[in-house]
Amino acid sequence: MTASKPAFKERVFSGVQPTGNLHLGNYLGAITKFVALQDRYDCIYCVVDLHAITVWQDPKELPRAIREVTAAFLACGIDPKKNIVFNQSQVAEHAELAWVFNCVARLGWLNRMTQFKEKSGKDRENASVGLYAYPNLMAADILVYRATHVPVGEDQKQHVELARDIAQKFNNDYAESIAAHGFGPAFFPLPEPLIQGPATRVMSLRDGQSKMSKSDASDQSRINLTDDADAIAHKIRRAKTDPEPLPDNEKALDARPEADNLVGIYAALAGVSKADVLNEFAGAQFSVFKPKLADLLIAKLSPITAEMRRLKDDFTYIDSVLADGSARAQVLAAETMKAVKDIVGFVRR
Ligand code: ATP
Ligand code: MG
Repeated sequence: MTASKPAFKERVFSGVQPTGNLHLGNYLGAITKFVALQDRYDCIYCVVDLHAITVWQDPKELPRAIREVTAAFLACGIDPKKNIVFNQSQVAEHAELAWVFNCVARLGWLNRMTQFKEKSGKDRENASVGLYAYPNLMAADILVYRATHVPVGEDQKQHVELARDIAQKFNNDYAESIAAHGFGPAFFPLPEPLIQGPATRVMSLRDGQSKMSKSDASDQSRINLTDDADAIAHKIRRAKTDPEPLPDNEKALDARPEADNLVGIYAALAGVSKADVLNEFAGAQFSVFKPKLADLLIAKLSPITAEMRRLKDDFTYIDSVLADGSARAQVLAAETMKAVKDIVGFVRR
């Protein structure tokens, strides 16, 4: 650690893509954490629609998805007055700073990103340039607000670390100019990933080795926040498991990813530890455990689902939240971009 660390105002930024159906992983790994942070920090929560189009999105579907993620934020308890809630494409500075970062980040850094490898799959030559440069835009999302804390699921850790590397390289490359313009020893903070608490990586219900995702082709792989009670019960009943009863200790779950995932989901929803869940269910068959898990899921999710349904068709309200949030976000982002232009040496009005 450096001795003289510049002080940055503490600020939280995070985003969710409008790429399909929001699921339990987004809820437990991200949105519940967003809700908890709003009491302690200034928070900016973004529907990252520019990220969404890194893979094809039907223009007839995208507005619905943007409004649905917004409705989910609100239904889960994010206060849009106290925090900033908006969609990324309404604040052009994200894309503007991303270009500067395209010129700061190195090809070698992006080549190490596992999300690109996973999402581009075998047909890499045919992936969009945007999918490759995605982490640079994500760095811009965070740093255009000079945010210090980024709550994300485990899968996004590598991208937040890349944002730190970009911030560090910008601060180093432009150190003289940053100081000359009165910004002291560093212009950007090094944002910290907040990957804490339970369920930082909820796994697919069909395969305990891959994460639950919006973009998984199988709807059976995930619990959607819009699923009704019957769908939840059906998906949990069909969730992949092994034939053994639940063990009496956590260590025994290491070799049983599907069992570990279901126990982890139960623990996160009930607000207890996995050890507590095993204390209660040690020796039980899945035929006993699964209905209990389904009941708990339904109890926790159904009020949220109902509120999302109510909100998401109220376009006037949702769009006004996004418009108000975008206007407030833009004030902050424009201030950063002006400084970045001065630091880089662009002539501006
Ligand atoms: P996509 O498949 O389109 O990438 P996604 O399900 O990964 O969708 P994102 O919008 O990319 O969702 O991620 C939103 C937030 O949810 C991020 O903070 C991400 O880390 C978190 N997240 C996504 N999937 C999971 C999961 N399975 N468990 C925990 N957190 C998750
Ligand atoms: Mg993702």
